Amino acid sequence: MLHYQPQIDLNTRQLIGVEALIRWQHPKRGLIPPITFIPIAEEIGLINAIGEWTLRTACAQNHRWQAAGLPAMPVAVNLSAKQWLQPRLENQVIDALQAAGLAPQWLELEITESLLMRDTEKMIETMHRLQASGVQFAVDDFGIGYSSLSYLKRFPVNRLKIDQSFVRDIPDDPDDTAIAIAIIQMGKSLRLNVVAEGIESTEQLNFLRESGCDVAQGYYFSKPLPAEAFIEYYNHFARGLPSPR
Ligand code: C2E
Ligand code: CA
Ligand code: CA
Repeated sequence: MLHYQPQIDLNTRQLIGVEALIRWQHPKRGLIPPITFIPIAEEIGLINAIGEWTLRTACAQNHRWQAAGLPAMPVAVNLSAKQWLQPRLENQVIDALQAAGLAPQWLELEITESLLMRDTEKMIETMHRLQASGVQFAVDDFGIGYSSLSYLKRFPVNRLKIDQSFVRDIPDDPDDTAIAIAIIQMGKSLRLNVVAEGIESTEQLNFLRESGCDVAQGYYFSKPLPAEAFIEYYNHFARGLPSPR
């Protein structure tokens, strides 16, 4: 099943997006986190089927929220590097959008730095085509991969997501703080939207907002929620709860 975590604009304090995060609801063992089964799914060749289901489910859910009267916002879907190795990915994305009746601008694909290091022309072309149709791209876990920045020039990305490991000890750790500031400033110079993940405290939130970070995601606002609970969250949030500062 998918859970959904809200993303909050730090300037307007509006709910502006949501990330879909997969869980396995096991009949005996309960909710199994993705780090436990995604690597195995990659190994045994199940990741494409799971990834296709995830794309379809997230797009359909986003369309349902829009139909229910929530403000339109992109849903972000995590893509495993393995999914790019199969030629059907582009069609899977287009099919998921069409089946859901969702406009491409309401889908964001999250990819990791290691994937961008492969730098295949084919992948860049696929990304350009999808982006031209409206689909957005975010670089997930930014800062922990190979620090080659040239890919930011070659790949059509819209967003950087500062890795949680840099956010955790803000504002106490001067090194993490410096890295977060550097990522925010670089993102701004490159006209990229910058998201900080893993925000849990008011101190982290205030520091990142004052440093110019655009969007926040983390337990401070909400844990990832089942789809119905996400609507409830929105209803509370629209009434002004919880509000930073
Ligand atoms: P990620 O994409 O970096 O997702 C963020 C993770 O941080 C999520 O863990 C989320 O629940 C957690 N998180 C969010 N806010 C906070 C916070 O304030 N504090 C802390 N400590 N953690 C926070 P989750 O859901 O267990 O997902 C782990 C990873 O599994 C994801 O990392 C992503 O790489 C992968 N994953 C999740 N869903 C999918 C999927 O549908 N497909 C693929 N290929 N990978 C997925
Ligand atoms: Ca992610
Ligand atoms: Ca991440």
